[in-house]
Amino acid sequence: MRKRVIAGNWKMNKFLSESVKFVEDTKEKVPTGDKVEAVVCAPYPFLTSLVESAKGSKLQIAAQNMHFEESGAFTGEVSPAMLKDIGVTYVVLGHSERRELFAETDEMVNKKVHAAFNHDLTPILCVGETLAQRENNETMSIVEDQVKLALEGLTDDQVKETIIAYEPIWAIGTGKTATSAQANEVCAYIRKVVAAEVSTEAGEAVRIQYGGSVKPANIDELLSQSDIDGALVGGASLEADSFVQLVEAGA
Ligand code: PGA
Repeated sequence: MRKRVIAGNWKMNKFLSESVKFVEDTKEKVPTGDKVEAVVCAPYPFLTSLVESAKGSKLQIAAQNMHFEESGAFTGEVSPAMLKDIGVTYVVLGHSERRELFAETDEMVNKKVHAAFNHDLTPILCVGETLAQRENNETMSIVEDQVKLALEGLTDDQVKETIIAYEPIWAIGTGKTATSAQANEVCAYIRKVVAAEVSTEAGEAVRIQYGGSVKPANIDELLSQSDIDGALVGGASLEADSFVQLVEAGA
């Protein structure tokens, strides 16, 4: 049985006091059993405070990005060692907004995934196609390439620890969720790619989230699918009650 992961991706939203209040309000409510993990992906300036307020609870705190270099002259960047140093445990890598708006390439994403493992951070690796690519029947090949390039050079064990988030770009923030069948088809395909490229065991173990307009009203249906092991949630993760409901759905 793969442990589900529900991650709330706040993106560039909230201020410090409301972020801390969110964690205070949710940390005792998220299920503590072995069925589901709850992760909050917050902006850099809040991470230290959120790690502090989540201490002693099951709630995990993630960054939404990082650089792959160790240290040095990279003005404006944050290193994996810095995240580790403040107690962050997960990091979102290669989100489509980073790829589209900040020119992140598959090669950079691959370096970041390696850097995450070098510092004991669990990567949440995002992949997904645009609407045009879906309409051209390129979904599977695009996603396959993204997965292969991002995982290149990792050990079998590292791949097993990776969380892959399948997020069709046309479903992000649009209210258009992929149907559970569409989402599962791609997640199952990703699992097959991992099994073929890495090992059958890695394909079985890797956890694959769906992301794109997930909300309390559709999460049960998505999680009922064979190859969907959780969700990466933007908009619907901003409210504490809604986030708790999403995590409870995974328990
Ligand atoms: P959304 O965002 O849930 O608001 O569609 C998901 C994401 O970008 O991770």
